[in-house]
Amino acid sequence: MAKKIVHRPELTFWEKLYIPQVLTGLKITSIHFFRNLFLHILHRLGIFKHRRAGVTIQYPEELRPLFSRYRSRHRLTLRDDNTPRCVGCMLCETVCPAKCITIVPGEHPDPHVEKYPVRFDIDLGICVYCGYCVEVCPEDAIRMDTGILDLASGTREGMRLDIHQLMDPELRKPVTNCSLDFPHQCEVTGGEMKGGWDQVRKYSDNQV
Ligand code: SF4
Ligand code: SF4
Repeated sequence: MAKKIVHRPELTFWEKLYIPQVLTGLKITSIHFFRNLFLHILHRLGIFKHRRAGVTIQYPEELRPLFSRYRSRHRLTLRDDNTPRCVGCMLCETVCPAKCITIVPGEHPDPHVEKYPVRFDIDLGICVYCGYCVEVCPEDAIRMDTGILDLASGTREGMRLDIHQLMDPELRKPVTNCSLDFPHQCEVTGGEMKGGWDQVRKYSDNQV
């Protein structure tokens, strides 16, 4: 097969100076700067409001509104007794293309509920935010609607959400206090089993 040799084009003298490119960039930036400054002054005076001017959002103090279908950090939805709606069917773990969901199911005392998650982890360090876990869930037990976008962490471990953070999206690592009553593998106490169904309101009230 014949080879086609493509030579890199030589830069001209002016291109090697890079001064025209720098001046072009400054010109574009200045046009935007003075246009926005001028329009904002006019808006303050109550005129030319139909012409939009650029607005800087002061993140993170000020947050841009998200579309309702935007996929943000995950959460587990809850039953009235503050236990997860999840029935431990493993569909989300199976469908996850990044294999970042880990569920350990346990037997639920309610005969109408097959199982529940003793452990439920999502490693956001490898999650690709595809939303398949939400779509596949038959119980509407997992959603990506928290609106939380700031996920940075200094460690890989810090990117892994456990059941405490998934049930309460306000929690931030390190989580030091466990408020879950149902039996679960508790990361707060070092991965030991903690809680009992007799401590959960619905079951302690003998409503089952
Ligand atoms: S959003 Fe996608 S990659 Fe992330 S946990 Fe759900 S299924 Fe897995
Ligand atoms: S698909 Fe839904 S019910 Fe099934 S394990 Fe995942 S979160 Fe739980």
